[in-house]
Amino acid sequence: MKFKCIALINFLALQCLAILGVSKGFDFFYFVQQILITLLMQWPGSYCDSDKFSCCYPPTGKPAADFSIHGLWPNYRNGSYPQNCDPSNPFNESETSDLISSMRRNWPSLSCPSSSGESFWSHEWEKHGTCSESLLDQHSYFQTALTLRQQTNILQSLKSAGIIPDGGSYSLANIKDAIKNGTGYTPWIECNEDSSGNSQLYQVYLCVDSSGSNLIECPVFPKGKCGSEIEFPTF
Ligand code: 5GP
Ligand code: 5GP
Repeated sequence: MKFKCIALINFLALQCLAILGVSKGFDFFYFVQQILITLLMQWPGSYCDSDKFSCCYPPTGKPAADFSIHGLWPNYRNGSYPQNCDPSNPFNESETSDLISSMRRNWPSLSCPSSSGESFWSHEWEKHGTCSESLLDQHSYFQTALTLRQQTNILQSLKSAGIIPDGGSYSLANIKDAIKNGTGYTPWIECNEDSSGNSQLYQVYLCVDSSGSNLIECPVFPKGKCGSEIEFPTF
């Protein structure tokens, strides 16, 4: 009798654990299905000559004339996005100390007043990164963005197709094809306007799987307008 009772308690305990495990797994799986991670890269020339922003170089000087990271953004598939998801997990530079020199090179901040990047990184982590913290903790968030930036050499893909940042005008379709040929995936392009009102190549969006390791085709794209011919300004 005693043995049966213990067996029954064990059985019930196991059922209970299984149910808890499944529901936890379900929430996680549901989250992964709903959330889409986007790698966003900016062309510094278009940030700096836009009519909206003035730009300031970091104290270390003018960043490289190359695409740099803006952020990794979790989005919902309906086009909306979560933000500022966990105030209890603020940016902590010491968690990414091994990455700082790479972040300075690949994720500079061009906003004014001049800054070495900490306020941009902390804004990106707190507004966007905390919303996928169950997939990518703070170190993984920055590491993943840096690795993807290295893997997707956008500028090289464009140059291979003869598209260079010379202030000339290029077809949006050719720009997208060149990035698709280089990275394997169709990007979404965001334009802004220079001070004369010309539409120009500002940011490139690529979609990433929930592990952050691989690019994927974007199931949905954000909305926005570019001309069919856009400028690629110098930097
Ligand atoms: P804007 O409408 O000026 O492009 O963006 C305003 C703000 O909304 C930005 O600071 C950005 O954080 C956020 N935002 C705009 N579009 C998206 C999007 O597709 N995904 C995410 N995660 N944030 C966005
Ligand atoms: P997000 O669009 O990621 O939500 O917001 C970007 C915020 O970061 C803005 O408040 C902007 O002023 C600041 N920021 C600082 N440096 C940069 C930069 O180099 N590029 C962009 N796009 N925003 C920057």
